[in-house]
Amino acid sequence: MADCLFCKIVAGDIPSTKVYEDESCYAFRDINPQAPTHILVVPKAHVSSIAQIGDLNKDVIADLMTAIGRIAEQERLENGFRVVSNCGPDACQSVPHLHFHILGGRKMGETMA
Ligand code: 5GP
Ligand code: ZN
Repeated sequence: MADCLFCKIVAGDIPSTKVYEDESCYAFRDINPQAPTHILVVPKAHVSSIAQIGDLNKDVIADLMTAIGRIAEQERLENGFRVVSNCGPDACQSVPHLHFHILGGRKMGETMA
């Protein structure tokens, strides 16, 4: 999508620190990390949030979940990690291209919200 920040990152038009890529997913380090490891995993195809995930090919959805596991292993998050996908204004989603945050490298807070 022309005016989408993460579509531009996927296309390489905006630089990012890549940690993983396959035919359907791209993952890169968050510019404003909230934990020692903070990675964003996005589908290369544009959908705006997890509310529209049904618009993606089921293989792409499976690839996203598989990528999260592979990245956690690659980043040596064997002690655990948290996966978050903010959806819409109540969840403070700021970039309207579906993304999963992988947060790790320290003990997470007890509450999620
Ligand atoms: P959201 O608030 O939508 O769940 O998450 C968006 C995330 O994208 C935020 O954690 C923010 O730091 C990150 N972000 C915003 N702009 C950029 C950018 O240009 N590059 C990278 N690497 N991350 C970004
Ligand atoms: Zn996009």
